[in-house]
Amino acid sequence: MTHTDVLISGAGIAGLVAAAGLAAKGLTVTIVDPSPPVQTAEADGSDLRSTAFLQPSRVLFDKLGLWDVLSAHATPLRALQVIDSTGWPPVETDRRVFKPADLEEDVFGWNLPNWRTRATLADDLAETPGITLRLGVGFAGMLARDDEVRADLSDGSRITARLVVGADGRASSVARAAGITMKTRRYGQKVLAFVATHTAPHHDVSTEIYNSGGAFTTVPLPDHEGAPASAIVWMNGGARALELYGLNDADFGAEMTLRACHILGDMRPISPRRMWPVVTQTAQALTARRTALIAEAAHVLPPIGAQGLNTSLHDVSALLDALSPDPGAPEGLRIYETARAKDISGRAAVIDLFNRVCKSDAAPVQALRLAGLRQVHDIAPIRRTIMRAGLGPLNQNT
Ligand SMILES: Cc1cc2nc3c(=O)[nH]c(=O)nc-3n(C[C@H](O)[C@H](O)[C@H](O)COP(=O)(O)OP(=O)(O)OC[C@H]3O[C@@H](n4cnc5c(N)ncnc54)[C@H](O)[C@@H]3O)c2cc1C
Repeated sequence: MTHTDVLISGAGIAGLVAAAGLAAKGLTVTIVDPSPPVQTAEADGSDLRSTAFLQPSRVLFDKLGLWDVLSAHATPLRALQVIDSTGWPPVETDRRVFKPADLEEDVFGWNLPNWRTRATLADDLAETPGITLRLGVGFAGMLARDDEVRADLSDGSRITARLVVGADGRASSVARAAGITMKTRRYGQKVLAFVATHTAPHHDVSTEIYNSGGAFTTVPLPDHEGAPASAIVWMNGGARALELYGLNDADFGAEMTLRACHILGDMRPISPRRMWPVVTQTAQALTARRTALIAEAAHVLPPIGAQGLNTSLHDVSALLDALSPDPGAPEGLRIYETARAKDISGRAAVIDLFNRVCKSDAAPVQALRLAGLRQVHDIAPIRRTIMRAGLGPLNQNT
């Protein structure tokens, strides 16, 4: 049986960043994942979501020396624009622009395609001393004792570890093995994620356009074959999402151009479409004996305001800060749980409420959404507070 200080289940972006941080602390880390990273956007199973990494995530990347390998693929976010709209085809009712200068920053963050981030991190970690990447092998079960965990892997091998980190996504096998249950809220919505080109430039601005059904978000990417390109995240009621998913590219592009209120000119999809159910899901505990959950294993949020993976990287920072030389010792796990529980539940509650208000067809709720947008933007102290809360952990900002 082999031994490692920390076993990480899940080589998604969060698991890989956690591995880099734990190895930097001098720990041996083994990371397992049944699905190796893909090398192109077109490959089967490619994660076509993109992540707008906000300032605190960049700080973590810098600290771990990861920004050097990621920066070549990053597009800066110079402003966030929020548009309220009504009816179909949507008519713009109001627009507000949030600028990083309000927080004395040049940019809010940097956008990277998820498949690219994952592949780049995995390549980098393959060369990092102290890290063993076992791609193609999954976590299958464990027996946690006071001094160590014995874990079974999907290839029939076993490994012992002083800490198991569950970074294995929304259906976490580690959470299940540790007996940690999930609280899940469904909205009847689905979200489509894909890449599109458009005839008008994005000027490095990310835009969220609200309408009944949910948000339509554009996030700037580098040009594609000479045309401006953006990652698109489009939330809808389930039936409408399925209808859009089934359209041919020309009809889908026409619907998208209308939904975007023409702000990016004529739009055309240039990637397959991926679809996810929209849920808020929170783990009822973040830790168990010699076990910690991070990222979507601990919390899944509706894709609004670039919160999901950024919240996950706050988990990674908190875990790195909490662990003692014996990484799975109870005191460190208690510190981690305390550091993250309030931020996760607060952020989940705010985004849940926001999503329910944003997707509503009811005229009074739509009026409330518009009034809320104006108030959040036009009153400078509220605007700055909301922007800071969007960037960092709630318990450091409030
Ligand atoms: C449409 C959409 C847009 C989004 N946009 C943003 C955004 O702009 N900004 C942002 O911050 N967040 C965003 N999010 C959220 C973000 O994409 C997710 O939070 C993030 O990708 C999840 O990362 P993860 O590492 O937790 O999970 P995953 O990426 O799901 O990784 C989990 C890994 O665990 C592996 N695994 C599963 N089972 C096992 C097992 N038994 N053993 C070992 N490994 C296993 C899987 O193969 C996978 O590689 C968005 C989400 C959606 C749906």
